[in-house]
Amino acid sequence: MKLYLASGNAHKAQEMNALAAASGLAVEIVSAKAVGGMPPVEEDTGTFIGNARKKALALKAKLPPEAWVLADDSGVCVDELGGGPGVESAYFAGPQADSAANLRKLTEVMRGVPAARRGACFLCVLLLRGPGGVEQVFEGRCTGRLLDDPRGGAGFGYDPLFVPDGHSASYAELGDEVKNKLSHRGRAWAAMVEWWRGRS
Ligand code: IMP
Repeated sequence: MKLYLASGNAHKAQEMNALAAASGLAVEIVSAKAVGGMPPVEEDTGTFIGNARKKALALKAKLPPEAWVLADDSGVCVDELGGGPGVESAYFAGPQADSAANLRKLTEVMRGVPAARRGACFLCVLLLRGPGGVEQVFEGRCTGRLLDDPRGGAGFGYDPLFVPDGHSASYAELGDEVKNKLSHRGRAWAAMVEWWRGRS
Protein backbone atom coordinates (compact mmCIF):
# COMPACT_ATOMS: atom_id res chain seq x y z
CA MET A 1 0.00 0.00 0.00
CA LYS A 2 1.15 3.53 -0.74
CA LEU A 3 1.58 6.10 2.02
CA TYR A 4 1.89 9.64 0.69
CA LEU A 5 4.16 11.85 2.77
CA ALA A 6 2.79 15.36 3.31
CA SER A 7 6.17 17.04 3.69
CA GLY A 8 8.55 19.00 1.53
CA ASN A 9 11.35 18.36 4.05
CA ALA A 10 13.82 15.96 2.39
CA HIS A 11 15.43 15.06 5.74
CA LYS A 12 12.14 14.02 7.30
CA ALA A 13 11.35 11.97 4.17
CA GLN A 14 14.72 10.25 4.41
CA GLU A 15 14.16 9.37 8.08
CA MET A 16 10.66 8.11 7.34
CA ASN A 17 11.92 5.91 4.52
CA ALA A 18 14.52 4.42 6.84
CA LEU A 19 11.91 3.92 9.58
CA ALA A 20 9.56 2.22 7.11
CA ALA A 21 12.31 -0.11 5.91
CA ALA A 22 13.40 -0.99 9.46
CA SER A 23 9.84 -1.65 10.66
CA GLY A 24 9.06 -4.07 7.84
CA LEU A 25 5.66 -2.43 7.41
CA ALA A 26 4.20 -3.25 4.01
CA VAL A 27 3.90 0.35 2.91
CA GLU A 28 5.64 2.20 0.13
CA ILE A 29 6.43 5.78 1.13
CA VAL A 30 5.69 8.17 -1.73
CA SER A 31 7.09 11.68 -1.45
CA ALA A 32 4.95 14.76 -2.08
CA LYS A 33 7.53 15.61 -4.73
CA ALA A 34 6.55 12.49 -6.69
CA VAL A 35 2.97 13.79 -6.96
CA GLY A 36 3.79 17.32 -8.02
CA GLY A 37 5.16 18.76 -4.78
CA MET A 38 3.85 19.66 -1.35
CA PRO A 39 1.24 22.46 -1.58
CA PRO A 40 2.21 25.51 0.50
CA VAL A 41 0.69 25.39 3.99
CA GLU A 42 0.68 28.17 6.54
CA GLU A 43 1.60 26.57 9.85
CA ASP A 44 -0.53 28.91 11.92
CA THR A 45 -2.71 26.73 14.16
CA GLY A 46 -0.40 26.98 17.18
CA THR A 47 -0.43 23.23 17.77
CA PHE A 48 1.55 20.32 16.36
CA ILE A 49 -1.66 18.38 15.67
CA GLY A 50 -3.37 21.32 13.98
CA ASN A 51 -0.40 22.01 11.73
CA ALA A 52 0.02 18.32 10.90
CA ARG A 53 -3.69 18.12 9.99
CA LYS A 54 -3.37 21.13 7.67
CA LYS A 55 -0.42 19.51 5.89
CA ALA A 56 -2.19 16.15 5.56
CA LEU A 57 -5.39 17.69 4.18
CA ALA A 58 -3.48 19.91 1.73
CA LEU A 59 -1.79 16.91 0.13
CA LYS A 60 -4.88 14.70 0.37
CA ALA A 61 -6.85 17.25 -1.67
CA LYS A 62 -4.53 16.50 -4.61
CA LEU A 63 -4.96 12.72 -4.43
CA PRO A 64 -7.71 10.16 -5.07
CA PRO A 65 -10.15 9.72 -2.11
CA GLU A 66 -8.77 6.27 -1.26
CA ALA A 67 -5.23 7.59 -0.70
CA TRP A 68 -3.53 7.43 2.70
CA VAL A 69 -1.51 10.49 3.69
CA LEU A 70 0.97 10.92 6.55
CA ALA A 71 2.02 14.32 7.90
CA ASP A 72 4.74 15.16 10.43
CA ASP A 73 4.86 18.23 12.62
CA SER A 74 7.67 18.41 15.08
CA GLY A 75 9.96 20.68 17.04
CA VAL A 76 12.24 21.18 19.98
CA CYS A 77 10.79 22.32 23.33
CA VAL A 78 13.30 23.94 25.68
CA ASP A 79 12.57 24.11 29.43
CA GLU A 80 14.40 27.43 29.87
CA LEU A 81 12.25 28.95 27.09
CA GLY A 82 8.96 27.77 28.61
CA GLY A 83 8.67 25.00 26.02
CA GLY A 84 9.68 27.19 23.07
CA PRO A 85 10.39 27.34 20.26
CA GLY A 86 8.15 24.20 20.13
CA VAL A 87 5.59 24.49 17.36
CA GLU A 88 7.49 27.55 16.06
CA SER A 89 10.81 25.65 15.71
CA ALA A 90 10.93 26.08 11.93
CA TYR A 91 10.59 29.88 12.27
CA PHE A 92 12.58 30.57 15.46
CA ALA A 93 14.98 33.02 13.79
CA GLY A 94 12.25 34.61 11.64
CA PRO A 95 9.66 33.73 8.98
CA GLN A 96 12.24 33.18 6.24
CA ALA A 97 14.95 31.69 8.47
CA ASP A 98 16.72 28.52 7.41
CA SER A 99 17.82 25.66 9.67
CA ALA A 100 21.33 27.07 10.12
CA ALA A 101 19.96 30.43 11.31
CA ASN A 102 17.52 28.70 13.70
CA LEU A 103 20.32 26.56 15.14
CA ARG A 104 22.52 29.63 15.60
CA LYS A 105 19.74 31.50 17.34
CA LEU A 106 19.01 28.67 19.79
CA THR A 107 22.74 28.32 20.52
CA GLU A 108 23.01 32.04 21.28
CA VAL A 109 19.77 32.33 23.26
CA MET A 110 21.01 29.50 25.50
CA ARG A 111 24.55 30.92 25.77
CA GLY A 112 25.61 30.99 29.45
CA VAL A 113 22.59 29.03 30.73
CA PRO A 114 24.01 26.52 33.24
CA ALA A 115 23.90 22.76 32.65
CA ALA A 116 21.16 22.23 35.23
CA ARG A 117 18.79 24.44 33.20
CA ARG A 118 19.50 23.04 29.72
CA GLY A 119 16.76 20.41 29.65
CA ALA A 120 14.81 20.04 26.40
CA CYS A 121 12.77 17.55 24.46
CA PHE A 122 11.88 16.89 20.86
CA LEU A 123 8.24 16.24 20.03
CA CYS A 124 6.81 14.67 16.91
CA VAL A 125 3.20 14.33 15.84
CA LEU A 126 2.49 11.94 12.99
CA LEU A 127 -1.02 12.37 11.62
CA LEU A 128 -2.50 9.82 9.28
CA ARG A 129 -5.52 10.59 7.09
CA GLY A 130 -7.25 7.82 5.19
CA PRO A 131 -10.41 7.30 3.15
CA GLY A 132 -13.73 8.53 4.58
CA GLY A 133 -12.16 11.08 6.94
CA VAL A 134 -10.29 8.46 8.97
CA GLU A 135 -7.70 10.19 11.15
CA GLN A 136 -5.16 8.78 13.58
CA VAL A 137 -2.60 10.75 15.58
CA PHE A 138 0.63 9.33 17.01
CA GLU A 139 3.01 11.23 19.26
CA GLY A 140 6.64 10.64 20.10
CA ARG A 141 8.87 12.43 22.58
CA CYS A 142 12.58 12.26 23.30
CA THR A 143 13.92 14.06 26.37
CA GLY A 144 17.48 15.28 26.77
CA ARG A 145 19.55 18.44 27.07
CA LEU A 146 21.11 21.12 24.94
CA LEU A 147 24.87 21.39 24.41
CA ASP A 148 26.70 24.73 24.70
CA ASP A 149 27.71 24.53 21.03
CA PRO A 150 26.56 22.38 18.08
CA ARG A 151 28.41 19.09 17.51
CA GLY A 152 28.25 16.52 14.71
CA GLY A 153 27.50 16.47 11.01
CA ALA A 154 24.59 14.05 10.56
CA GLY A 155 20.87 14.74 10.69
CA PHE A 156 19.25 18.14 10.27
CA GLY A 157 17.81 21.16 12.06
CA TYR A 158 18.64 21.32 15.75
CA ASP A 159 20.24 17.83 15.81
CA PRO A 160 23.79 19.10 16.54
CA LEU A 161 22.65 20.83 19.76
CA PHE A 162 20.55 18.05 21.32
CA VAL A 163 21.83 15.17 23.43
CA PRO A 164 19.17 12.54 24.23
CA ASP A 165 18.96 11.17 27.79
CA GLY A 166 21.31 8.24 28.39
CA HIS A 167 23.82 9.48 25.81
CA SER A 168 26.71 11.92 25.69
CA ALA A 169 26.66 12.46 21.92
CA SER A 170 24.28 14.75 20.05
CA TYR A 171 21.64 13.43 17.62
CA ALA A 172 23.98 14.66 14.85
CA GLU A 173 26.91 12.68 16.28
CA LEU A 174 24.87 9.53 16.90
CA GLY A 175 23.89 9.36 13.23
CA ASP A 176 20.62 8.42 11.56
CA GLU A 177 20.50 4.74 12.48
CA VAL A 178 20.89 5.31 16.22
CA LYS A 179 18.78 8.47 16.14
CA ASN A 180 15.87 6.65 14.49
CA LYS A 181 15.84 4.02 17.23
CA LEU A 182 15.34 6.52 20.05
CA SER A 183 14.12 9.73 18.48
CA HIS A 184 10.78 11.52 18.82
CA ARG A 185 10.03 10.59 15.18
CA GLY A 186 11.12 6.97 15.70
CA ARG A 187 8.81 6.67 18.72
CA ALA A 188 5.82 8.21 16.94
CA TRP A 189 6.52 5.90 14.01
CA ALA A 190 6.61 2.85 16.32
CA ALA A 191 3.18 3.83 17.70
CA MET A 192 1.84 4.11 14.16
CA VAL A 193 3.24 0.70 13.20
CA GLU A 194 1.56 -0.87 16.25
CA TRP A 195 -1.80 0.67 15.25
CA TRP A 196 -1.35 -0.37 11.62
CA ARG A 197 -0.53 -3.97 12.54
CA GLY A 198 -3.54 -4.09 14.88
CA ARG A 199 -5.99 -3.24 12.11
CA SER A 200 -4.82 -5.81 9.54
P1 IMP B 1 7.82 21.64 10.92
O1 IMP B 1 7.46 20.31 11.50
O2 IMP B 1 7.79 21.65 9.45
O3 IMP B 1 7.05 22.75 11.56
O4 IMP B 1 9.34 21.92 11.24
C1 IMP B 1 9.90 21.46 12.39
C2 IMP B 1 11.21 22.14 12.67
O5 IMP B 1 11.67 21.58 13.88
C3 IMP B 1 12.26 21.86 11.61
O6 IMP B 1 12.48 22.98 10.83
C4 IMP B 1 13.49 21.55 12.42
O7 IMP B 1 14.22 22.70 12.59
C5 IMP B 1 12.95 21.11 13.76
N1 IMP B 1 12.97 19.64 13.83
C6 IMP B 1 11.93 18.77 13.73
N2 IMP B 1 12.37 17.51 13.83
C7 IMP B 1 13.69 17.60 13.99
C8 IMP B 1 14.69 16.61 14.13
O8 IMP B 1 14.47 15.39 14.10
N3 IMP B 1 15.93 17.07 14.29
C9 IMP B 1 16.24 18.39 14.31
N4 IMP B 1 15.36 19.35 14.15
C10 IMP B 1 14.07 18.95 14.00
